[in-house]
Amino acid sequence: MKKRQYYDVAVIGGGPAGMMAAGRAAELGARVVLVEKNESLGKKLLLTGGGRCNLTNAEPDARKFIEKLGGKNGKFFFSPLAAFGTQQTVDFFERMGVKTKVEDRKRVFPISDNAADILHALEAYMERGNVTVMTDATAAGFNTRENKLTQLLLRGGEVEAASYVLTTGGRSRPETGSSGEGLKWVAKLGHHVLNPFPALVPLKISDAWVKKTQGLSMDNVAVTLLVNGKKDSARTGNILFTHFGMSGPTILDMSKRVGEVVKDKSAEVLLSLDLKPALTIAQLDERMQKDFKKYQNKTFRNSLDDLLPRKLIPAIIALVKINPNKAVHEITREDRLRLVKMLKDLRMTPIGLLGFDKAIASSGGVDLNEVDSKTMCSKLVENLYFAGDVLDIDAPTGGFNLQLCWSAGYVAGEAAAREAIKERNAHI
Ligand SMILES: Cc1cc2nc3c(=O)[nH]c(=O)nc-3n(C[C@H](O)[C@H](O)[C@H](O)COP(=O)(O)OP(=O)(O)OC[C@H]3O[C@@H](n4cnc5c(N)ncnc54)[C@H](O)[C@@H]3O)c2cc1C
Repeated sequence: MKKRQYYDVAVIGGGPAGMMAAGRAAELGARVVLVEKNESLGKKLLLTGGGRCNLTNAEPDARKFIEKLGGKNGKFFFSPLAAFGTQQTVDFFERMGVKTKVEDRKRVFPISDNAADILHALEAYMERGNVTVMTDATAAGFNTRENKLTQLLLRGGEVEAASYVLTTGGRSRPETGSSGEGLKWVAKLGHHVLNPFPALVPLKISDAWVKKTQGLSMDNVAVTLLVNGKKDSARTGNILFTHFGMSGPTILDMSKRVGEVVKDKSAEVLLSLDLKPALTIAQLDERMQKDFKKYQNKTFRNSLDDLLPRKLIPAIIALVKINPNKAVHEITREDRLRLVKMLKDLRMTPIGLLGFDKAIASSGGVDLNEVDSKTMCSKLVENLYFAGDVLDIDAPTGGFNLQLCWSAGYVAGEAAAREAIKERNAHI
C-alpha cells in the first residue's frame, strides 16, 4: 500500500496548461505535484506547429485577440489575457532562454523552430519551483466531501492537496494522452460538459480531382462556404489538398462550421475557391489574354504555367473541358471566359470531417458559465480549477489555442496556490 502524499496544489495533466499552472503555483511558494499518465510530458505540445510550436499570436490588443475567438465564449478570456497576455508569453519564454520570432499572420515560433525548446523551458520552470512530477501516473477520479475535493485517485495510490487544477485536455489526437476522461469526472461533480466535437479538423471532399491534387499547398485563396447556394461564411489564406480532401489553416478554421452544416443531409453544401482573389473577373480575363498571346503557338496544357501551380493544371483542364492539345490561338472567347470563371469559383463538395484522431482541437468541454474567469475556479466545487482544452472554447489556428493554455494555466496556478497557502497558514 502506497503512502498518502500531501501537497498544496495537485495539477492533473502535463500538457502546456498543466505545466504552466504547476510552474506558476510553485513560483508562489506552493508545494506542487503534477500528475501525468504518459511516460513523458507535453506529447501534444511537441506536435504543435508541425513540430515548430506556434506558441502564441503577436496580437497585443486583447480585444482583437478575443474577436478572433468569436462567440460569447471568447469574452470569458478577457480576464485571463489581462493577467497573462501574448506579450507576457513571449517575455516568459525569452526569460526561460527561448528566443522567438514572428512569422506571417503574427504567428510566434521559437527561433530554433523546435517545439522541444518550449517543453524544456516549461520543465525548467517547474524544476525551479521544485514541482514533483509524477509520470506514468494515471488519475482515475476524485474523492469528495460536500462540495470540496479531498483526494485525487491514482491507479495504485492517491494524492491529497488543498487545491486541484484539472488540465487533462480535450479529445483531439487521443494518442497523445488527451482522451477526455477528465471531462467525465467533471460531469460527475455536477458540471455541464458540452459535447466534445472535432474542431480545426481536415475535411473529407467527394471530388476525385481534389484527391488527385494531393500535396499542393496554395497561399491567398479565398474560400467561401455555400449552403443551398447562399454564402454562409468565408476566409482567405493557405489551403492544402490531401489524399482525403482539404486541409491547411484556412480550411481548418472553417471546419467547425462545415461540420455543422453537412449534418443536414437535405442541404446542398459546397466550397467555392477563388484562386485569384486580388483580381476581378475582368482583370483576370485581361491577364489570361496576355498569357494566351504569349503562348499562342503552344498547346492549351502548356499555357497555364504562369498562372497556376503545376499540380493543379491537369485538374483545371479536365474540369473546364477544353482539349489540352488544342493550340492556344484556337481557344474561343467563350472557352476562355469559362476558364476565368472557374478560377474565380472552383467548387468542391465537403462530405464530412475527419475524426478526433486528426483534429487539432476539439470544441466542447466544461461550461464556461460554471467557471470564474478571474481565478479559473469552479463555481460548483470550491477547490477545483481548470485550464486549457478541458474548457469549452476552440480558437482558430495561429497560436491562439496555446495562448489560452498559458493565460488560463497561469491564472489557475496562481489562484490555486494562493488559496492553498492561505489554508496552510490558517492551520499553523
Ligand atoms: C497536431 C496539432 C498541432 C497543433 N498546433 C498548435 C499550434 O501550433 N499552436 C497552438 O496554439 N495550438 C496548437 N495545437 C493545439 C494545442 O496543442 C492544444 O490547444 C494544447 O496542447 C492543449 O493543452 P492542454 O494542456 O489543455 O492539453 P493537452 O496538451 O492535451 O495535455 C493534456 C495532458 O493530460 C494528460 N492526461 C489526460 N488524462 C489524464 C489522466 N487521467 N491522468 C493523468 N494525465 C492525464 C495527457 O496525457 C496530456 O499529457 C495543436 C494541436 C495538434 C493536435
